[in-house]
Amino acid sequence: MARILITSGPTRQYLDPVRYLTNASSGRMGRALVEAALELGHEVVVVSGPVETTYPPQTEVVPVVSTEEMLSACRERFPSCDGLIGAAAPCDYRPIKIEPHKIAKTGGPLELHLVETPDVVATLGANKRPGQWVVGFALETQDQRFRALVKLEKKSCDLIVINGPEAMSAPDNSVDVLDRGGEVVASLSGSKESVAQGILQIIAERLMPS
Ligand code: C5P
Repeated sequence: MARILITSGPTRQYLDPVRYLTNASSGRMGRALVEAALELGHEVVVVSGPVETTYPPQTEVVPVVSTEEMLSACRERFPSCDGLIGAAAPCDYRPIKIEPHKIAKTGGPLELHLVETPDVVATLGANKRPGQWVVGFALETQDQRFRALVKLEKKSCDLIVINGPEAMSAPDNSVDVLDRGGEVVASLSGSKESVAQGILQIIAERLMPS
């Protein structure tokens, strides 16, 4: 059995004490992956951004708000895990400066200066030790296979799960799982729970020692 780190949900990057940038993510795919992993007897640590979804009680849940917090929580825990499933939708940009007070309206446009946040999967993937595996997700609206394969490579993933924007906040999902050679190893569709079971089965067959 393995110890699996799963990232789930969106992150928030605050502009001021009340406003933030975020991504559309309900955490449902993350929760379904947690459940599927537990059903197979794995141990799960979930690092989750703010979600309404709750996770099964047998799970160690680490709640985080920002992408930087998600990365630091994952960096702490990844060394004790066999693999990572990056199902979160971390916010990719943060404002250069967080205003300490609520930004007042002026009647004119507001210019925001944003910089990229660190990529959680890419950072962990770049530092994985031999035997550790990383599975990423790619939500693409065009050139799905090509873009996903570029991400798989860039983020040092062993497998990447491609889904489309219809997956956001929906109960169902339809995905292709791509390996490092660009081969589609499975096309899965149905409830997020059944898709998650399929993904965990592929991970067990391809990435876990028998
Ligand atoms: O580049 P993109 O956001 O489409 O890649 C999606 C994959 O990368 C997902 O597995 C997601 O969890 C992960 N990701 C991340 N940190 C980010 C952005 C994406 O871990 N800042």
